[in-house]
Amino acid sequence: MDFKKHVRVIEDFPQEGIHFKDITTILKNGPVYREVIESMRQMVKHLDVDLIAGPEARGFVVGAPLAYAMGAGFLPIRKSGKLPGETIEASYSLEYGKDKLAMHKDAIQPGQKVLIADDLLATGGTIATSIDLVKQLGGEVVGAAFMIELTYLNGKEKLNGIENFSLMKY
Ligand code: 5GP
Repeated sequence: MDFKKHVRVIEDFPQEGIHFKDITTILKNGPVYREVIESMRQMVKHLDVDLIAGPEARGFVVGAPLAYAMGAGFLPIRKSGKLPGETIEASYSLEYGKDKLAMHKDAIQPGQKVLIADDLLATGGTIATSIDLVKQLGGEVVGAAFMIELTYLNGKEKLNGIENFSLMKY
């Protein structure tokens, strides 16, 4: 399937000069959404995965169905102040802006194998922070999976050699 034709590119969102890749056009199309998740599962099925961690909010719509399909657990990585239990936090910078991500302190048992999933890899700030949090909690990061990679932003360099997979590249 040509997945790219289902991604809507919106110019100058959320800032001038950004060609935003809108994936809501994938999410609202049942067969395409299912095929995207199934294709991502195929890319990572060789990995031994206990848990999938996805950063708010679009990491949830990729990570949770992928976790379900793989029979793994799902861990939400949330913006600061949203999780009810005790958390650890880390700061990160986005393609546009800065923020803090948090995870529950008891989310991971030491040595559990964690795949990180998000809709899109841009500068790599979000994923680097997610990796940092998972490692701080004693998890072993076994890979990072994305629907989309913006190769021209070189986000991969922030992955420190962690195996990574993306369904579409721009
Ligand atoms: P990074 O931290 O790699 O610079 O940015 C990736 C994060 O920002 C992802 O969590 C992603 O959801 C969001 N993001 C940045 N640019 C885009 C875009 O063009 N489309 C979508 N759907 N998300 C984006």
